[in-house]
Amino acid sequence: MSAKLLIVEDEDALSELLRYNFEADGFAVTVAATAEDAEILVSEDTPDIIVLDWMLPSASGIELCRRLRSRPDTRNIPVLILTARGEEADRVRGLETGADDYVVKPFSVPELLARVKAILRRAAPERVAEVLQVMDIELDRTAHQVTRGGREIHLGPTEYRLLEFLMQSPGRVLSRAQLLDGVWGHDAYVDERTVDVHIGRLRKALMSRSQSDPIRTVRGAGYVFGDRQA
Ligand code: CA
Repeated sequence: MSAKLLIVEDEDALSELLRYNFEADGFAVTVAATAEDAEILVSEDTPDIIVLDWMLPSASGIELCRRLRSRPDTRNIPVLILTARGEEADRVRGLETGADDYVVKPFSVPELLARVKAILRRAAPERVAEVLQVMDIELDRTAHQVTRGGREIHLGPTEYRLLEFLMQSPGRVLSRAQLLDGVWGHDAYVDERTVDVHIGRLRKALMSRSQSDPIRTVRGAGYVFGDRQA
């Protein structure tokens, strides 16, 4: 699991509890206390899923959900709404604005985790899959193990994260900037050349038995993983 979760909740105690539990489960968590802050964060870095509190200080969670659904770039982000309201009419209203699911406070954290994962399994299966497989390469997130053709491949931590990120979007060109963001993080002070260095190391490890190169360099654009036969 390496899904990006945005929590929008103005009660610090609850958002910290959620952050702690989701991070322990491997999520990359960002927290916003208002709908306005959340909108800015979403524009900066699109999350894979949003857990959104209904009752927020100025614009409500429902308003934010509606705004996200009206923008083409944010329309498809899954949203789970948290609320103290349990009325059937409110539930329907929440789902009508485009929320994917709805959890009533007080809720148990394991239940919320399970619901979030269920939504992600439908919306972005590669984010929650325990084993990623592309060509003859397998990455097992639970065991933190990579194999090619059944033989284990030892990778450094950066190469492992880089491979995991590439394997989430096989066949798609990923720019150096996207790789930097996805692997090193938004705020990392890392040069784009660093990406090339780690791609080189990853290639070397994956091709240690003279197998084919699973990574294709696209000049002026970036890299594609797994768009050729094994
Ligand atoms: Ca609240």
